[in-house]
Amino acid sequence: MTQTTTGLPTPRGAGAKDSVHGCGPQPYVYRRIELVEPDWRRFPGWRDVTGDQWRSAQWQRAHCVKNLPQLRAVLGDLVDDDFYADLERDQAERATMSMLIPPQMINTMVPSTAGAMPAGGPAFTAAFHSDPVRRYMLPVFSDRHPAWPSHPFASRDSLHEHEMWVAEGLTHRYPTKVLAEMVPTCPQYCGHCTRMDLVGNSTEQVTKLRFDLKPVDRADAMIAYLRSAPQVRDVVVSGGDVANMPWRTLESFVMRLLELETIRDIRLATKALMGLPQHWLQPDVVEGVARVATTARSRGVNLAVHTHVNTAASVTPLVAEAAGAMLAAGVRDVRNQGVLMRGVNSEVDQLLDLCFALQDGAMITPYYFYMCDLIPNSEHWRVSLRHAQELQHGIMGYLPGFATPRIVCDVPFVGKRWVHQAHSHDPVRGISQWTKNYRTSLETDDPEALARTYPYYDPVDTLPAEGQRWWRARVRSGIDGA
Ligand code: SF4
Repeated sequence: MTQTTTGLPTPRGAGAKDSVHGCGPQPYVYRRIELVEPDWRRFPGWRDVTGDQWRSAQWQRAHCVKNLPQLRAVLGDLVDDDFYADLERDQAERATMSMLIPPQMINTMVPSTAGAMPAGGPAFTAAFHSDPVRRYMLPVFSDRHPAWPSHPFASRDSLHEHEMWVAEGLTHRYPTKVLAEMVPTCPQYCGHCTRMDLVGNSTEQVTKLRFDLKPVDRADAMIAYLRSAPQVRDVVVSGGDVANMPWRTLESFVMRLLELETIRDIRLATKALMGLPQHWLQPDVVEGVARVATTARSRGVNLAVHTHVNTAASVTPLVAEAAGAMLAAGVRDVRNQGVLMRGVNSEVDQLLDLCFALQDGAMITPYYFYMCDLIPNSEHWRVSLRHAQELQHGIMGYLPGFATPRIVCDVPFVGKRWVHQAHSHDPVRGISQWTKNYRTSLETDDPEALARTYPYYDPVDTLPAEGQRWWRARVRSGIDGA
């Protein structure tokens, strides 16, 4: 990769002639890519796994990788011992999420080796280490920045969702919409999870928050709040991942939402549509989705599925099949909300390849890319605001307008802001300021809420030397705001 004048790497295909005008290179050259389900039998632990087993949600859940011995049982000697030691150290000293990866997701790592039995050793280890899915699902200690693993202002629950709970697990941040955290677990745990405060098992570094109420009582409290808040018209039914709710429980909750005349949009949030598409292909689940979609449609409510895909390789035929099953069952749309991360998808060609795989191959609408949040130990993933703005510029004009994702910064106490909406940005200290046009549930009596600016921070290691010196001095003097 070479550097462009914008500082961004030159995308794949740069230099190729514009096939239409024949007059110069296009920064990105579109080509239709067939989706591929890599052959899982290239991994020693899955040599004898049949197609029927692979399509079984039960088999996938039972064979999720949760620890090092299980990972070794799958990969065997393909990966060097140094990699396992690096992973073990990360789990002890850095990880904010415990390990949980379905076979479906592991199979999208190093997909280029499918079709041939890969040779192990340094070459495979290097390919595995640089694989984008590995980089965010199986973080190792050497991935993290040695000097700045965390930003000085990083915090668990960096979006302050817990403070905005109006009922346990129900975050009311925007005027007309709420987030319902139904379940604190997922079929897969992502290293960068913004809800690392609550979701998953405790790690060496992070003791997780626990819900107090029983699920049934929590659901009742949420419905009671929504009955009392007619200004709320939009509910994101999330977690965790709703794929970890028994279908009947999820269906019952969505049907209760549909009884509320005030609710006009319902979105089911599930990364498992990509991580465990087998779940959403189960006949009882597809039939259940059809029941709620039919009811939603009869009441004029928009029911959609939102998923979370970060790399083009993750969009396989099974993912497309699961998305197609949801659309055939009657949901209005399946949309993707990815997270922007260095070494995963922070180049123009990577984002466009992903968006075209979603749009062309799986009928999933590219919708948002979030800048990775200010959680502990995430600096090596986060990108600067300037870089995010360059990426937004770089992806404009290739996709249909309705499928051109917005790159957004989720600013603490503000909410999602398009990256070009920053009120100001100091690129030396990496501090941007943001404004907002509504009050969160914390500021109903705050006269200054709409007048003040709210800060967000670039990763320190991306700043010029002067900015890094400034932050080191701030940390030495006991930082108390910037
Ligand atoms: S699926 Fe979503 S909620 Fe679950 S760990 Fe990943 S990012 Fe967090």
